[in-house]
Amino acid sequence: MTKLSKILLISFALSASAALFALPTKSSEDHEYKTSVLPLPPLETLGVEKKNPLKEEKTTSNWQLHKFKVGKNESLSTLLDKANVSAKTTYQIGRLNNSKKITNLKVGDEINVWVDKNYQLQKILYPKSQTLAYEVVKSDNGYKIIEQKQQVEIRTETAFGIINGAFYPAAKRAGLSAKSVMNLADMFAWDIDFIRELRKGDTFKVIYETKYLNGEYIGDGDILAAQITTNGGKEDHNAFILRTKDKLIGYYNSDGKNLKKAFLRNPVDYVRITSKFNPRRFHPVLKKWRSHRGVDYGGPLNTPIRATGNGKIIERGWARGYGRYIKIQHAGKYVTLYGHLNKFGKYKKGQYVNQGKVIGYMGKTGLATGVHLHYEFRIRGKHVDPLKVKFPAAGPVPKKYKTMFKQKSKFLLTQLDRIDRQSTQLAQSFE
Ligand SMILES: [Zn+2]
Repeated sequence: MTKLSKILLISFALSASAALFALPTKSSEDHEYKTSVLPLPPLETLGVEKKNPLKEEKTTSNWQLHKFKVGKNESLSTLLDKANVSAKTTYQIGRLNNSKKITNLKVGDEINVWVDKNYQLQKILYPKSQTLAYEVVKSDNGYKIIEQKQQVEIRTETAFGIINGAFYPAAKRAGLSAKSVMNLADMFAWDIDFIRELRKGDTFKVIYETKYLNGEYIGDGDILAAQITTNGGKEDHNAFILRTKDKLIGYYNSDGKNLKKAFLRNPVDYVRITSKFNPRRFHPVLKKWRSHRGVDYGGPLNTPIRATGNGKIIERGWARGYGRYIKIQHAGKYVTLYGHLNKFGKYKKGQYVNQGKVIGYMGKTGLATGVHLHYEFRIRGKHVDPLKVKFPAAGPVPKKYKTMFKQKSKFLLTQLDRIDRQSTQLAQSFE
């Protein structure tokens, strides 16, 4: 940490604004199983200063604080008016060079205005995000706007747990946030059925990042590596992150194989299958025997529909039977089709779309008795049952990252092994 940023951090912590950034810390009971094999430097050496609430009080004790939540049709000037700030001062602030930084408000934003006993504006604080705030403070010739940037500090932590019943409570007990539990389930979604496959005694180990601001926990970051051992210790499922400076590319096993499949099993999140793939069924609208060459999903009108794989939208239009429909060409021989849509998403014909992106919304256009999605999966033009077909794996670690991935995953694997040795005893004592 540079000296300057350290000073910024300290001055920020001492200002009354610091309390606004206070976020819930993890409770101690969340840490039951937690061990940390990656040694972390003590707080002081990280340049994180403890806040002093008493000091905050003193500097602003003669000022009155107005806390506002920006409502509909409200602007900075209406809020300043509410705080009895003179129109002249409001005008002055609106005329500042970079005034847009504090006047571009969104509904729900928080604005803090301090005035003295003569309603003279002393300070405005606008926390733009968790790491960025704008302040209006007095200057020699009026006011000026200053930017308060805060650096998020990333730490690496580990978790170990033994499944006793369901996965979720076990992962929470091990100290993982809800977000990390979801990420973990997403990473292994193609590989492990978290509801039916995990048994009592199965174990998991996770190396993950946590984010801190002013020494306070603000949330989990990426999962770096994870290992789930199932089947009485016989099967290891490993996952290692591959990311560049600004992008998470994916999770792969130690051989560099993608944990993801090229396709999602279902194009809608909450699955209720109303009609299965069936070479011979009585059509409810046509009133005759006709094969059902896809799967129907029921749901409320405008349920988001996701592209099940990466691909290019080759058709987006209307057909008598399908109604409003989209057809996607995936790598090589695969085509998926989504029918009876109420409306399309933002992706147009000819555009590429990634797996999981919303391409449209459920409806009942075309030959449909009720709101549902008709979904087809074709291999070389032949219709197959999307619920039963074996999906190919998504692409392996890209060539240019192979060396980097090999080194990093090897290192992470040794870290995963260490969690085992150090914490098994500890975990058992809690069980
Ligand atoms: Zn159908």
